[in-house]
Amino acid sequence: MRRRIVAGNWKMNKQFAEADDLINGISEQLREFDTTDVDVIVCPPYPFLELVSDVAEDAEFFVGAQNVAHFDDGAYTGEVSASMLKSLGVDYCIVGHSERRKYFCETNEQIAEKINRLLQQDITPIICVGESLEEREAGKHFDVIKQQVTEGIFHLKADDMQRCIIAYEPVWAIGTGKTATKEQAQEIHAFIRNLITEHYNDDVAQEVSILYGGSCNPKNAKDLFAMQDVDGGLIGGASLKAKDFIEIACSFE
Ligand code: PEP
Repeated sequence: MRRRIVAGNWKMNKQFAEADDLINGISEQLREFDTTDVDVIVCPPYPFLELVSDVAEDAEFFVGAQNVAHFDDGAYTGEVSASMLKSLGVDYCIVGHSERRKYFCETNEQIAEKINRLLQQDITPIICVGESLEEREAGKHFDVIKQQVTEGIFHLKADDMQRCIIAYEPVWAIGTGKTATKEQAQEIHAFIRNLITEHYNDDVAQEVSILYGGSCNPKNAKDLFAMQDVDGGLIGGASLKAKDFIEIACSFE
């Protein structure tokens, strides 16, 4: 079943004491506000996963990582495997974020490997897709997203597809303060859902939550989340303030 989801991506921000304050702030806000029908996920940097996981034991949120190795455990210096994430209590993991595609040259093939490893460990992948400004201006956004989805995700069997979350994150909207309009978001979300219907079937498409990401904040979240195919958000900058993040989680009608 499509779930309402708000996931916070802290990216490479905060020192340990600040991370401690932020996660305890989020935990307190969650006690104050009713987010019963919403899955709230917090994705801190690797060094803070254990801290966040400890707080999550007594709070109403799930723990996510921001990345995972596309290899199994072994001699891969600096990498973190899906099984290690599992051993820390991680339930979700962002995969294929545009910053990883851009700065670390991640390919759709590597992203497909990461998804496989996460699913093997029963960790839900939050798979990011989205076009750059040049691609949108050239009218190539539908083609780009179709290629990312087809090469990165559609190797999965229907049962596994249903276990994934997709995040549509137009690159031009990430960290820029320039949000996609609710109509632009709905158009792409419906397009992605339709791709799933065509490749699998409508039952599968109705199981997959599709999140919007890109300068989502407490002011615009309500309009975006009200759109038919928008099931919530992947939140960067605004997830670094407990109040803003939980206000976004309370933005569903
Ligand atoms: C992100 O990085 O996933 C993101 C959506 O960032 P921001 O909300 O800051 O645009």
